[in-house]
Amino acid sequence: PYRFRGRRITVAGLGVSGVPAARALHGLGAHVTVVNDGDDERARTQAAELERLGIAVRLGEQAASTLPEGTELVVTAPGWKPGKPLFAAAAQAGVPVWGDVELAWRLRGPDAPPWLAVTGTNGKTTTVRMLASILEAAGLRTAAVGNIGVSLLDAVLGDEQYDVLAVELSSYQLHWSSSLRAHSAAVLNLAPDHLDWHGSMAAYAADKGRVYEGNRIACVYNAADKATEDLVREADVEEGCRAVGFTLGTPGPSQLGVVDGILVDRAFVEDRQGSAQELAEVADVDPPAPHNIANALAAAALARAYGVPAAAVRDGLRAFTPDAHRIAHVADVDEVAYVDDSKATNTHAAQASLAAYESIVWIAGGLAKGATFDELVASSAKRLRGVVLIGADRALIREALARHAPEVPVVDLDRTDTGAMLQAVQEAKRLARPGDTVLLAPACASMDMFANYNRRGEAFAQAVRELGA
Ligand code: ADP
Repeated sequence: PYRFRGRRITVAGLGVSGVPAARALHGLGAHVTVVNDGDDERARTQAAELERLGIAVRLGEQAASTLPEGTELVVTAPGWKPGKPLFAAAAQAGVPVWGDVELAWRLRGPDAPPWLAVTGTNGKTTTVRMLASILEAAGLRTAAVGNIGVSLLDAVLGDEQYDVLAVELSSYQLHWSSSLRAHSAAVLNLAPDHLDWHGSMAAYAADKGRVYEGNRIACVYNAADKATEDLVREADVEEGCRAVGFTLGTPGPSQLGVVDGILVDRAFVEDRQGSAQELAEVADVDPPAPHNIANALAAAALARAYGVPAAAVRDGLRAFTPDAHRIAHVADVDEVAYVDDSKATNTHAAQASLAAYESIVWIAGGLAKGATFDELVASSAKRLRGVVLIGADRALIREALARHAPEVPVVDLDRTDTGAMLQAVQEAKRLARPGDTVLLAPACASMDMFANYNRRGEAFAQAVRELGA
């Protein structure tokens, strides 16, 4: 175990991970210096609080680029880019760099609960929450923690007792962790995202793949996404650890899948005579869209790896309610369903929600983050009744539509003020026929027009309410 007492430790970044990390390390007797690139109002308030405890804080770009004298360990906020000068200085000095997950893993106690870990490009939060719901239904003390917005450090150091943790890990967090050994882990899917941060698709995939390293019981992969299976094959795992796949089709041996509307498990069969265990019905999954059934199967696989009985999988899935702005049904107006998937901030996510409906008026656009839209548009063209485009990068989508769906009517809204969403919804209503779905699945980030995807979804829901009124 690492001894923290008396060590000179630099914490990079104030904020959700840095402040608790600095406090914890200070409490363990380390000499902590926090460096932070911003020195705005919020940073100064946080700095003042830490300084009162006797923790040194240095603010500003210059401070955040310089390794403090005598640093023996850097603990970084996960979002800090590997290319930053601070890390070059640390490498030069032979100083290790840990992220928040590495720190939490190292600080957990001797009787710490095992981790069931989830990563992937899309579906992490949903899957982790489904998993926690299933574990709870089995009577286990658990929590959904990590990238989901609940600090792992708090879960590890807090007074609450857990049997097992459902842990969401981002690619950034995995990049900065090296000794994590999960009980079992799942990579849900792999599509290009955050490539500017990781540098390449290969580097992004490799960081995701770290979640499998040292797994003890099961590495859960997506049978429809070969890249996830490849990561299992490349991982160095404990002896006896199994590769377990999930599929929306009939499962092979060592897989979970779907047969006649039933989620079945052929990997962890309780009755050795039987060849498959029925877990739940597709209708128990909310919403029962294909990508979400995949999330449910991944959650079930991790729970089953932990030994949860079939009935608890069913009860946990029934008890689960989806988070806001993730394929949320807002209202039916004149026999048209209005659905808010504002959280579909990249093309891979939008593709999943477009696949869930037959005849769609699609509201899309925003900040493209360097994405291309040809594949998304080509694969969804048949299901599009019409499209309403909003936001800064809408021309990219318009051009893809012209290439792959020239017959689909497109309304191109050239405005980014707060009233734009209301107009978008009105235009969508005009295009829609009874039985259609008006789907907000922007395939883009929201920050050109809104503070975040929550605000975008709220604006959509508000506009739908005004339609109905
Ligand atoms: P994350 O935590 O990985 O961002 P969420 O569970 O919050 O994932 O879902 C984000 C969005 O991604 C959803 O709104 C939906 O559009 C899409 N999504 C969810 N699960 C999947 C999946 N398994 N495959 C593809 N897209 C998905």
